[in-house]
Amino acid sequence: MGFSKLKIPKICEQCGKAFEAKTVVTRFCSSTCANKSGKEKKKQAKEAEQKQTLLEQSAEKIAEMQTRPYISITEATILFGISKDTIRRLIKAGKVPAVNFGLRLTRVSRVHLEEMYSTIEIPEEPKEKPIKLHYEIDECYTVTEISVKYGVSPSTVENVIRRNSLPKRQVGNYVYVPKEPIDKIFARK
Ligand SMILES: [Zn+2]
Repeated sequence: MGFSKLKIPKICEQCGKAFEAKTVVTRFCSSTCANKSGKEKKKQAKEAEQKQTLLEQSAEKIAEMQTRPYISITEATILFGISKDTIRRLIKAGKVPAVNFGLRLTRVSRVHLEEMYSTIEIPEEPKEKPIKLHYEIDECYTVTEISVKYGVSPSTVENVIRRNSLPKRQVGNYVYVPKEPIDKIFARK
């Protein structure tokens, strides 16, 4: 009888530190790390669940979020698929403007996040495909023209193009996008 002399070199799954485990199933260097890991898993599961619930509350809610300049941190996790911690870090670093109305009432700038991350696709009813597939250059804007005309950044324009799967044509250094759908989209905004 007595203590096991077994020492198994391992890497702590929580802090990444090398340590000597006493059993083959030991995963953490300390009880602190084991507790932390459990808590983080719970937190992640909770966030994933919240996200799923909100997604299930239909596309309408997401579309509504996309009309608001400021959204909650939970909403931002859904819209941009990033974690709460990431958002809090961005706010702390002053990379994203936020307004704090009180405990758990932080509202973060959707527009700024949109420039950093692309939003998730809104599931839409399958629509009829546009008949017109080829556009002449004079029927198109360049990204810069759209950005100037509607007072949005080029990256926002590119997001809009991507999100709406608009046809684009690259000629030299310029990307051309048909005027017609662009005008429709920005008229709605
Ligand atoms: Zn550890």
